[in-house]
Amino acid sequence: MLDQYKRRIHYLRISVTDRCNLRCVYCMPEEGVQMKSHHNILSYERIVDVAREAVKLGIDKVRLTGGEPLVRKGICDLVEQLKKIPGIADLSLTTNGVLLPHMAEELKMAGLDRLNVSLDTLNGEKYKRLTRVGDLSHVLRGIAAAKRSGFKGTKLNMVIIPGINDDEVEAMKLFCRQQGLVLQRINHYSLDRLDSINREYEAERPLACSCCNRIRLTADGKIKPCLFSDIEYKVDFSDLETSLKRAIMSKPQQGVACQSRENWQIGG
Ligand code: SAM
Ligand code: SF4
Repeated sequence: MLDQYKRRIHYLRISVTDRCNLRCVYCMPEEGVQMKSHHNILSYERIVDVAREAVKLGIDKVRLTGGEPLVRKGICDLVEQLKKIPGIADLSLTTNGVLLPHMAEELKMAGLDRLNVSLDTLNGEKYKRLTRVGDLSHVLRGIAAAKRSGFKGTKLNMVIIPGINDDEVEAMKLFCRQQGLVLQRINHYSLDRLDSINREYEAERPLACSCCNRIRLTADGKIKPCLFSDIEYKVDFSDLETSLKRAIMSKPQQGVACQSRENWQIGG
């Protein structure tokens, strides 16, 4: 479906949980976050309902994100359900990779088409500092497991943080070439200001607003038309079509700021 500015909106990002097994410095506060109770989180059944309706409006690309999507119980069942919806041409998932060693094969069997694995550094100590609790070897094993399980075109998301890992871009390019990964460089931003996006470095993300093709479903059942905006609508399950259309038609031409949520509550 086209929005008011003639952008074709065909990409739905679904955050399945606010929980995460890491605490990346640019995403989550150190002390952790107040978790939502299970009652406030959309069931898989409802997520599938939203996706099915979205496909009727022209969505053909769906990505699962979080928090960390692999910490939500039964995530492979959700993948399997979404895969059954005719019209989703590309079903993908963004993960920090920590749980991939155990889950890559099951995700592949459930029908997941593609993976993005987030990794900002190849230095174990720096990785620990950036994620506060992470162990680089888990992600490296996760990447190997994805490859073994038959995932092709896996992307590696690297957030470039000035003075921290901007000297590692070339090393990461080489690593990706060796591992058969596609490097996706992300310029660091703070959600509370669109103009906080660091433009110093060449990067694939974030996309310019004029190229935006997406809407987002949050784990607590809100549709967000724009990452850099506080506009969001509670999904009305008695009228999904109107809920989705309203969100698409209220996409602003350009984002400004999102002050009501942080990245871990949206999924990037
Ligand atoms: N937990 C999963 C992961 O880390 O891949 C999925 C959720 S995470 C919020 C989605 C993506 O957003 C990750 O690639 C992460 O690096 C990126 N991200 C988080 N905070 C960011 C920030 N402040 N600036 C740029 N990218 C960010
Ligand atoms: Fe968790 Fe992903 Fe945020 Fe890191 S970027 S804290 S892994 S949700």
